[in-house]
Amino acid sequence: MTMHLVAEKRRNFTNWDGISLTKQNNFDTKLNNPGERVHCVYMIKKAVYPGSFDPITNGHVDIIRRGLEIFDEILVAVLENPKKESLFSTKERVDMIQEIFAHEEKVEVNSFHGLLVDFANTHASKMIIRGLRAISDFEYEFQMALMNRKLDPEIETLFMMPSLNYSFLSSRLVKEVSMLGGCLEGLVPEEVEEKLRDKYKTSPKTNSK
Ligand code: ADP
Repeated sequence: MTMHLVAEKRRNFTNWDGISLTKQNNFDTKLNNPGERVHCVYMIKKAVYPGSFDPITNGHVDIIRRGLEIFDEILVAVLENPKKESLFSTKERVDMIQEIFAHEEKVEVNSFHGLLVDFANTHASKMIIRGLRAISDFEYEFQMALMNRKLDPEIETLFMMPSLNYSFLSSRLVKEVSMLGGCLEGLVPEEVEEKLRDKYKTSPKTNSK
């Protein structure tokens, strides 16, 4: 008889399909008959990290890196919102994030529109990551998380705090500083700094201190 088990992914066990559970001590107790053969299904822990990312900042990057310590895969979901005026097009925002994480195969980038819970379900994820910088973020994030739970009770939202260095950082502020020709060193990845300079036709600057 073939049983179906759902197990946490363990890096060293790449193929459990058909392995006799007598060799897997952890699961011996779950078998009526320890000689039974099983078909084991991995659950890749994938989380969706949604946002406008107009543009991605080091605060977002920090949250993604922290998320990678918890999840097997992070799907960055770039919001396509024709009603919200953005500096960068959806494609530009997706391309920038892809460039930054080009060597990180556990990060995937996609754009989305419509309900986030539908997007998460389509991509086989039940987990949403959001960043919390300060109390001011909390009220909106709290409403969103509960609304998403109402729409799909199986979806969980996980809030993560960035490093203190980035807790004052927002895409809006970065754009303002860049537009006025200020230095963005340490606030956004280099690729983003370059693209911002192109948009605002400013030249590279370093901090005066
Ligand atoms: P929004 O979804 O409001 O347009 P963003 O696209 O900028 O906001 O951000 C997406 C997510 O990342 C949100 O959860 C936001 O709170 C979070 N975030 C934005 N900037 C930072 C930062 N500096 N540190 C941590 N989280 C952040």
